[in-house]
Amino acid sequence: MAEPGTLEKLVSLCKRRGFVYPGSEIYGGLTGTWDYGPLGVELLRNIKNAWWHDNVTTRDDIVGLDSAILMNRTVWQASGHEDAFTDPLIDCKACKARFRADQIAESACPRKPSKHPGEFAECQLTEARKFNLMFKTFVGPVEESAATVYLRPETAQGMFVNFKNVCDSTRVKLPFGIAQIGKAFRNEITPKQFIFRSREFELMEIEFFCKPETSQEWYRTWQDTRFAWYQSLGLKGSNLRLREHAKEELAFYSRGTSDIEYQFPWGWGELEGIAHRGDYDLSQHQKFSGKDLTYFDDETKERFLPHVIEPAAGATRATLAFLCEAYAEEQVEGETRTVLRLSPRLAPVKAAIFPLVKKEGMPERAMAICNDLKKHWPVFYDEKGAVGRRYRRQDEAGTPFCLTVDGQTAQDQTVTVRERDSMTQTRIGVDHIRNFLIERLID
Ligand code: ATP
Repeated sequence: MAEPGTLEKLVSLCKRRGFVYPGSEIYGGLTGTWDYGPLGVELLRNIKNAWWHDNVTTRDDIVGLDSAILMNRTVWQASGHEDAFTDPLIDCKACKARFRADQIAESACPRKPSKHPGEFAECQLTEARKFNLMFKTFVGPVEESAATVYLRPETAQGMFVNFKNVCDSTRVKLPFGIAQIGKAFRNEITPKQFIFRSREFELMEIEFFCKPETSQEWYRTWQDTRFAWYQSLGLKGSNLRLREHAKEELAFYSRGTSDIEYQFPWGWGELEGIAHRGDYDLSQHQKFSGKDLTYFDDETKERFLPHVIEPAAGATRATLAFLCEAYAEEQVEGETRTVLRLSPRLAPVKAAIFPLVKKEGMPERAMAICNDLKKHWPVFYDEKGAVGRRYRRQDEAGTPFCLTVDGQTAQDQTVTVRERDSMTQTRIGVDHIRNFLIERLID
């Protein structure tokens, strides 16, 4: 588990180095929104690309989709979100603060000294009422109920409503999945813990359709596959666990749900939900749309609604988990070195290129290497300050390799490669740099 105080240090590093900034900051911010800076946007994109590569590009049984954020309102009536996508909300009439009824024990009243809501004599807590988390807006110029649409709170419904389109326009056969990455919006009552719970975030979701009799097996397979994915990108098994939901926690249609949880600095939190949804979604959309959404099995000549296994992962929440896992401070030669030990696949910048000094043709040689590598990866040229300081700057950014052009380069065409984690330095030929990186960076 991360050391106490890691989250505060991480928030500060993220701001200082350009990973994540508070949203709309110069106007005092907008709670629950975050902007991804030059390093953060690369990290987030690498997480999404790794997910897409591992779940879509390299599999024959999953196809991709990018559906619209705004959807016909009936979609959310069919899915049950308009009635039931709610959290229990409690207001305090005295201090005007709002709390989630199911999180009172972890919430703090804004009065000082710090106490839980309801613990001061002045507190006037209301009964809990249902608060719908969907953001409402209007299409067209008239603000009337007929024009109401919602910002999607998940990407899943886009995949269900396109199930027939995908079947008709491709050669998919059961079992197969549809995958989608995209923004989702939830008007969370208490956004908190940095980017863990925000009001605008990104999801990476798969709807995996299969025959009902194989669905339990697929449910287990997806639990294992998704757990292994986080491990492959550097999350240690001791910081990950799979939590199967108890019967009382399940939605009425669910045949099983489990969460992959990560041990964040404040405790265990959900990274991804894996749900066996039966045929609930397709049957609801069939009912509300009046369209036949059954699947025809060529071999058995049967028509039926497939069952669905849904692995739903948060891309922005995963970003926080990878950052927490990667963050380390260590003593090196009497100084504290802060390093992000991100997997090379996820690192925002893959290599930094330095001339040892700004003379004797070193900057030109280093720049030529940088320009060559730039065609393939995000790399960074830096000639400012002592080389030790330049290493430290890259350690904080998570850059796995630093290449330094020095006096020897002109004579034997080699550079030093310094590895972020071990800090060891070796020499390799300029001609071999690209292969060296390919071996370490390609999926
Ligand atoms: P929670 O219980 O944390 O509110 P949930 O069970 O409602 O999450 P799901 O609907 O299963 O979440 O969403 C799938 C994934 O989306 C979650 O595992 C999480 O990674 C991510 N996620 C959900 N809500 C948020 C949020 N407000 N901010 C960032 N990521 C989120």
